[in-house]
Amino acid sequence: MATDARLAELRGGGGAPYTRRPERVPCSHCGASSATPLHVDNCSRHQRCFGLIDPVKVWVQCDQCGLVRVDRPPSGPQLGAYYAALRGEGGDVAPPDAPKLFNHLVIADGILDRIDAHAPRSRRMLELGSAWGAFAAQAAWRGFDVVGVEAAPAAVAWSRGTLGLQVLEGSAPEVLPDGPFGVVALWEVIEHFIRPGDLLTALAERMPPGALLALSTPFLDHPMHRARGFDDPMWRVPGHLVYFDRATLKACLLAAGFEELERWSSPRHLGSGNVLARRV
Ligand SMILES: [Zn+2]
Repeated sequence: MATDARLAELRGGGGAPYTRRPERVPCSHCGASSATPLHVDNCSRHQRCFGLIDPVKVWVQCDQCGLVRVDRPPSGPQLGAYYAALRGEGGDVAPPDAPKLFNHLVIADGILDRIDAHAPRSRRMLELGSAWGAFAAQAAWRGFDVVGVEAAPAAVAWSRGTLGLQVLEGSAPEVLPDGPFGVVALWEVIEHFIRPGDLLTALAERMPPGALLALSTPFLDHPMHRARGFDDPMWRVPGHLVYFDRATLKACLLAAGFEELERWSSPRHLGSGNVLARRV
């Protein structure tokens, strides 16, 4: 039959039908393997480059701690190949134009006001996922000694050459400069890690007690996500592997040695929250 022939062709090409999904990974936060299916979506509805990653994404919620994660995360090399293909297909490869850069600098300024209000112990700052460098540049302009880490080569080159920033090319945990840092920032980064607790622990090791952690991530219990439900395009972002709500993020931070200080809505990413936390 035609259908069988098509299936044989797919299998012959190395494709694994999602109906043969292996066992899901245990929860990275509490270790429980029991989880409840939450949502299934198709990444190819969101990004046209989907050939190098399983476009069908199954989200589950841990029965024990409530953390929401993909049940079968892509490997590091799979994600790397996907991002490389995305950049090759004309993804987000252009630096921000002047109005967009200005907007990002002003938003960064507001965040830096809050960071400075907590009197960071040192001006040495690490930003993971520094992208085109707006936040790092504004921090440097306000007197922080910033090192950025960014995976996209074009963004690294532009933020180094145009903004004069110190940026390491790569991604954590492979590329993670030695501390100590007075401030560590990661904007829309932590949801890309299937084991976010391991990342936070690695950062905590580079931060003395009192150092500040600043991050943003989508919050499932944010009013924007409650309003949009599963229509929210974030469910189809291939690189997103884990989603928090207020309780699960607080627990994950606490387990890694951080206490939350402040939480407020991100003015830049719909439904994301900004969080400031202190290394205990
Ligand atoms: Zn769990």
